[in-house]
Amino acid sequence: MTPIIHILDSHSANQIAAGEVVERPASVVKELVENALDAGAKHIDITIEGNGVPLIRVRDDGSGIGVSDLPLAVIRHATSKISQIEDLDHLRTLGFRGEALPSIASVSHLEISSRPAREVVGLSLTLNGGEQVEYKEVGCPVGTSVTVRNLFFNTPARLKFLKSTPTEFGLISDTVGRIALAHPDIAFSLTHPQQVVLQTSGRGDLRETIGAILGHTIARQLIPLKGQHEDWQLEGFISPPDLVRSSRQAQTFMINGRIVRSPFLSRALEEGYHTLVPVKLHPVAVLHLLVPPSDYDVNVHPTKMDVRFKSEQALTPFISRAIYQALITSKPLPSFKTIP
Ligand code: ADP
Ligand code: MG
Repeated sequence: MTPIIHILDSHSANQIAAGEVVERPASVVKELVENALDAGAKHIDITIEGNGVPLIRVRDDGSGIGVSDLPLAVIRHATSKISQIEDLDHLRTLGFRGEALPSIASVSHLEISSRPAREVVGLSLTLNGGEQVEYKEVGCPVGTSVTVRNLFFNTPARLKFLKSTPTEFGLISDTVGRIALAHPDIAFSLTHPQQVVLQTSGRGDLRETIGAILGHTIARQLIPLKGQHEDWQLEGFISPPDLVRSSRQAQTFMINGRIVRSPFLSRALEEGYHTLVPVKLHPVAVLHLLVPPSDYDVNVHPTKMDVRFKSEQALTPFISRAIYQALITSKPLPSFKTIP
């Protein structure tokens, strides 16, 4: 009897992976910017048209992709970042699943132009819905430029689920802003439409970067923080207890350069404020946790936004103590205003 189980063709497999990795235009931006960071870029320029569906372009001045690697970059589970699962314990890159480019390619018109410094000409690869349509030499600067057009052209259900241009672009600019906060030493620009809407200098000054992203009024008031416990480090800025928000939107958490969503880190942060912040209000924070990669698992979800810590119980007091320490040593203690 012929079996009823069969292995999906690579196009269908990529589209299914795209369902998880590429939820919306902001997810494409995140994946492309992370690739640029992994390539050691110092300048990353992002251009968006409309809600991101007509055009997303990410240009970097990183390592570039060599002639023998470019066709592999769009193949699923093909990555230059790990060779075996054990490598995750020492992972220093943001990517490792080899899924982003093939997933994006399967639901868009994609063009990658790239040139490593050792080459005199660059190469450009164009795919429509994952099918290669062109592969040619091009003149281009050192680095990589990835252009995504007509996102979700062949997945109407995804396209229909997208929100208005302001909402989708808001999510893109939120994503770029958070990544820029995690990398003050890299110059980012976000252009939409034909106007630079976000720009950081790449000078390595976190307070200055916070100013560019969250506004200079907020940046000026923030309290610097540095904590260390064995091989764990926590650094960044937190708000005085009287600078609070009704949501956690102005809290950004990073672990080893990766933006994460972490209710655990939010809780540890807010525990550090004890009763200084009223219930239901939330401090502003930009916090970077530097810990050995073997202390947490990032392979929880294809978007790699969630992490699982191996020892939350020990991390919570370390974080909340560092927060409390920074608050009480900052002068003047903002919540205790002196009464004349
Ligand atoms: P991953 O990042 O998980 O390895 P991707 O599908 O995002 O998977 O990328 C596949 C490969 O293509 C990467 O491992 C890397 O070698 C190469 N690549 C992608 N984007 C860039 C870039 N901007 N600069 C240099 N190399 C890149
Ligand atoms: Mg990647």
